[in-house]
Amino acid sequence: MATMLTTHDVTNQASPLAGHNVYAGDRALRDALAFHLPDAADAHRHALGASLGGADMQEHARLANLHKPHLHTHDRFGHRIDEVEFHPSYHALIGAAMQAGLHATPWAQGPGAHLERAAAFLMFTQLEPSVLCPISMSYAVTPALRANAPLFDTWFGKLSSTRYDPRPLPVQAKHGVTMGMGMTEKQGGSDVRANTSTARFEEDTPWGQRYSIVGHKWFFSAPMCDAFLVLAQAPGGLSCFHLPRWLPDGTRNAVHLQRLKDKLGNHANASSEVEFAGAQAWLVGEEGRGVQQILEMGTLTRLDCALGTAGLMRQATSLALHHTTQRRAFGKALIEQPLMKNVLADLCLESEAATALALRLARAVDRQNDPFEQLMRRLLTPVAKFWVCKRGSALAQEAMECLGGNGYVEEHGAGTMARIYREMPLNSIWEGAGNIMALDLLRALRKRGKSDADVVHALATELATARGANAVLDGFSERVMARVAEAADVSGPEEELGARRLAQDVALAVQASLLRRHASDAVFDAFCASRLAGQGVQVFGTLPAGLKLDAILQRAMPH
Ligand SMILES: Cc1cc2nc3c(=O)[nH]c(=O)nc-3n(C[C@H](O)[C@H](O)[C@H](O)COP(=O)(O)OP(=O)(O)OC[C@H]3O[C@@H](n4cnc5c(N)ncnc54)[C@H](O)[C@@H]3O)c2cc1C
Repeated sequence: MATMLTTHDVTNQASPLAGHNVYAGDRALRDALAFHLPDAADAHRHALGASLGGADMQEHARLANLHKPHLHTHDRFGHRIDEVEFHPSYHALIGAAMQAGLHATPWAQGPGAHLERAAAFLMFTQLEPSVLCPISMSYAVTPALRANAPLFDTWFGKLSSTRYDPRPLPVQAKHGVTMGMGMTEKQGGSDVRANTSTARFEEDTPWGQRYSIVGHKWFFSAPMCDAFLVLAQAPGGLSCFHLPRWLPDGTRNAVHLQRLKDKLGNHANASSEVEFAGAQAWLVGEEGRGVQQILEMGTLTRLDCALGTAGLMRQATSLALHHTTQRRAFGKALIEQPLMKNVLADLCLESEAATALALRLARAVDRQNDPFEQLMRRLLTPVAKFWVCKRGSALAQEAMECLGGNGYVEEHGAGTMARIYREMPLNSIWEGAGNIMALDLLRALRKRGKSDADVVHALATELATARGANAVLDGFSERVMARVAEAADVSGPEEELGARRLAQDVALAVQASLLRRHASDAVFDAFCASRLAGQGVQVFGTLPAGLKLDAILQRAMPH
């Protein structure tokens, strides 16, 4: 009988990060929430954090990402069915997100609901983020539906219901529904005015004016949603329509799924190409107002891009901290090596600053009756979407490198860092790519009011909250305000050329002012010293000497 040779012992490999509490261990998130919602209890967040960091939910995330959805255009007898089949773990995750009320539920709740939802969204992202695509779209379209009262009356109760009901049935028969958005066509995504899909009026109905839509959408995510808000050209111009997948009479609408996209990441989410062959749709609002309506929804999906990226940044940073605490090289734990300490602390700063900025925007969304907050919402939507999403990919690459070769390995979906890295660029692209966001900041600045009520004054007020705390920040804010004032008064190619730089610097100034208010002194000082002084933002791991790196690492350590 042959004896099995023992070739080696497996040593010095880090354990998987599992069984931690994604809320309790996230000091940055907790402190930001304590600042924005000082009177709110947080036992429910602790419970959610424990559940999301637990082995069961993390396994659902792995499986949902590993087993991509399948499109069935026809049944075996040749009838169109246009159904997408998902792995059970996809259903488990989306069901949990709806149960937590991450879709339209906050629109049925009171003050603070959007901030609570933002925190939960940030935590849920640390599972399989692509599952949140229909959740985010349902959140974003719901207020827009108010422009058609009868439709709103029928759909709102089910959109805000916390019951997930994936059955392919008309709205009347469902316990809960989700909605998607269809703007992008082959010839134009950012420039939706180039849309060629047409809408022809057919008749007045109990849901208002019904049209017939002919055309296509080049990207049409989550096609198993119960309805979609789509853009199409009506006689009065580009208009917004509510297009249900099932018609009130119980028949399928003419929504023909052509194929599913083969994507870099975002695997659990089905993103389809679709054709509308005379699909029935109901006008929402007036003809010709489609662009404005879509832009309003965009402010909400853009919030989620910032929140989602902040969540992924937190997850990547947690993985890097966990790994380097356990892995040893050259006689020490990696986290004890001075240069690795510099890299990790830098990641912690970026992650906390992203969380702070995303939640600041969520506060502005939450306070809908506060004029100052509405100016901040207009200002920070493009700023946060641009900057947080841009930094996300850079952070994911560096966090992956902290794990060495293991960081690059997928291992049947167990390589969470690789999954994060593949997902990151998407939040920067969809819902308005980087340039579109930077140009939108210029647009926001130019809408000056007659009094002090404009975004420029709002930014000055916001930055004044941190004045006097740090000389570097004071100087930086002053220079940013001068450039902002200039950009508000002049328009032209020169200003467009500098739009990204401006968006970056506004983001940094606001992030620093927030860190002053709810981060530790060690984090605030290091952020100012590394991002606002000297050469500014550089490759991670270039923090100057003299900062309290251990305190920064300790604050961010997951548990
Ligand atoms: C996985 C995935 C899912 C998606 N799901 C949906 C969906 O469900 N519904 C939907 O409607 N869309 C969806 N999209 C589409 C997405 O919103 C668009 O891809 C995005 O808005 C960019 O549009 P585009 O692809 O046409 O690129 P373009 O508009 O061609 O833009 C290309 C580049 O040019 C830049 N650019 C454009 N104009 C200017 C300018 N004036 N100055 C400087 N730079 C400029 C942009 O910033 C971008 O970097 C999805 C995309 C992806 C990748």
